[in-house]
Amino acid sequence: MGELISIEGEQVTLLIEGREYIFPVSRFSAPDRAYLQNWQKEERCGVCRKKVGVEKMQAGERVFHSKCFSCLVCERPFLDRQPIRRDEWGGMVHSEHFRHAHSCGSCGRLFSAKRAKLEQIYADGRVSCLVCLRESVNDVATLDAVAKRVRGGMAELGLPTPVGPLTMRLVDQKTLNQEVERVHGRGSLRGLTLTTFRTVTGGPKAGTSFIHQVWVLAGLPVVECVSVLAHEFGHVWLNENFIDMSPPSVEGFCNLLSMHALNKDTSKLADILRKNLAMSEDRVYGRGFREMDKKLQKLGWPGLIRDLSTRRVPLSKRAR
Ligand SMILES: [Zn+2]
Ligand SMILES: [Zn+2]
Ligand SMILES: [Zn+2]
Ligand SMILES: [Zn+2]
Repeated sequence: MGELISIEGEQVTLLIEGREYIFPVSRFSAPDRAYLQNWQKEERCGVCRKKVGVEKMQAGERVFHSKCFSCLVCERPFLDRQPIRRDEWGGMVHSEHFRHAHSCGSCGRLFSAKRAKLEQIYADGRVSCLVCLRESVNDVATLDAVAKRVRGGMAELGLPTPVGPLTMRLVDQKTLNQEVERVHGRGSLRGLTLTTFRTVTGGPKAGTSFIHQVWVLAGLPVVECVSVLAHEFGHVWLNENFIDMSPPSVEGFCNLLSMHALNKDTSKLADILRKNLAMSEDRVYGRGFREMDKKLQKLGWPGLIRDLSTRRVPLSKRAR
């Protein structure tokens, strides 16, 4: 068992090799459950998780050792009624020092800008906490391994591997934004799929051939990269099948695939990414996801895939 971080209701959070994972209480053996119960009885510090004694600080529902209840930036303890900004990982800063803190672009963890290592600041301006940086995807071999994992999940749903050759590229935010703007007029995404197809009529080479280029933001932690690739592979499938839908339906479906891939991951980061997908305010990505999810609940995966397949627009009816 890793290091216990918290028990909230039926959810147990454990720290395993630097990453937090969430497990249901039911997954533990009887002796382990007894241990969890005892652990929970003690009042524990919200930062270091060790028992707190008489000398403690109370903030909302949580208690802290007075030395732990301090700002990540100035390292001074919080005084009575000082406004605080906090992340989902137990990190806290004085509100007035928030501008001297960085918030990890993937998991939202706060860290002091002054003490950040050089490699935590990407050339395109993104920042990463050390936990996410340690498992960031920066080379094609790692990206290929992630792609294999994503393909496995899609195969379970009955979505085949693409017919056409598919190349993947890791790019920085600037390159990605420029290309996204060129093709869709929407910026700041984490992945992009470009499919070109060619139709040959008659002769031995008759048929349609595809070439796919999938661009992924470099430096994302594996879990987030899984989510991005699942989304992009959704586009690849839609493109190869000429499935024509509104942008919210297209992006919503691709986000369902991200959700499906993220559901296989018990890390707390996966949990945060799932919440971001489900609650996004975006008119296309957020609303589209929720509408597609309703459909999925009604039809199930096989039904949904069958339903989408009926939206295939024959090539002859397309502009190109
Ligand atoms: Zn403490
Ligand atoms: Zn401070
Ligand atoms: Zn992070
Ligand atoms: Zn998309």
